[in-house]
Amino acid sequence: MSAAPTEPTPSPLPSRPKKEATHQEKDGGEDNSKTISRPHPKPSFPTPKLRLSTLDLNHPGSNVFFSNTNPSKALSEAVDAVLSILYQPTKTNDHIPACRSVTLFLQAMGGVAYTTGSDLDGDHKEIHFSLDYINQIPSARQKDEIQGVLVHEMVHCWQWNAVGTAPGGLVEGIADFVRLKAGLSSPHWKKEGGGQWDAGYQHTGYFLEWIENTCGRDSVRRINHALKDKKYEEDKFWEQLFGKKISLLWKEYEGSLDEQQKATRENEEKVESTAKTHEEDRSDDAEMNGEDKRSGHPEGDEPVKKDKPNNNGS
Ligand SMILES: [Zn+2]
Repeated sequence: MSAAPTEPTPSPLPSRPKKEATHQEKDGGEDNSKTISRPHPKPSFPTPKLRLSTLDLNHPGSNVFFSNTNPSKALSEAVDAVLSILYQPTKTNDHIPACRSVTLFLQAMGGVAYTTGSDLDGDHKEIHFSLDYINQIPSARQKDEIQGVLVHEMVHCWQWNAVGTAPGGLVEGIADFVRLKAGLSSPHWKKEGGGQWDAGYQHTGYFLEWIENTCGRDSVRRINHALKDKKYEEDKFWEQLFGKKISLLWKEYEGSLDEQQKATRENEEKVESTAKTHEEDRSDDAEMNGEDKRSGHPEGDEPVKKDKPNNNGS
């Protein structure tokens, strides 16, 4: 389009509208003296190629997956969650492991999921997700559980592991910590002391959350970063990061859980005793009104529908 770009001769009239209506190309008529300092583009995270491979569309788990998940959105949201929780972007992003592509394989297999580098090139990651597992998730949990597993596995694509020497339980704990922070924890997860700090998964995930709350907001980022290229030496590792041995941190965490439990117990007792008095009041009313007193859900906060009769779901 020839939009008569000739710059009008300087006019004494001050009331000339600054911008002509044409919202087309900006390059023509703009006053360059004013568009001076454009800020440098903000550093942003790497964006890997995301791919999907569905090996068995006849499998009922495939139907569950696609009824609940838009894979393109789900995978890119998982990448965003993982990178924003574990890293700050920089110009070079050389503190982030190379990961050029992530391919999700949906396939019939035992277990839940696993992540691996491709045979040809470790920078290309593969997440293998079990259709059998997907098929037995209670329907009310399907969407969140699928996304939760994707986020957990996506962490493995991007986390450091002290050149293969980090405790497996720490690696798995970081994955569930990120899942927790992404708001995708599972209803059966609970904070628990006892056992080893690095028993893994949510057990370690909640411990990491406590470290984050007591030792500083970016603690897990720092832990992950410290696993970048040095071998893991337990005492040195934790002392350098937080000035304490991990065994001491674990003890402190267990102590905080005891206190929390005591407080919730006391609260529950209070709530129970007030509920009892209310219930007594209500049952008096109900008797008077002939009310049906069946309770809502048998347990938990989600009505778990088992809509597949031949699914044992155990
Ligand atoms: Zn894992």
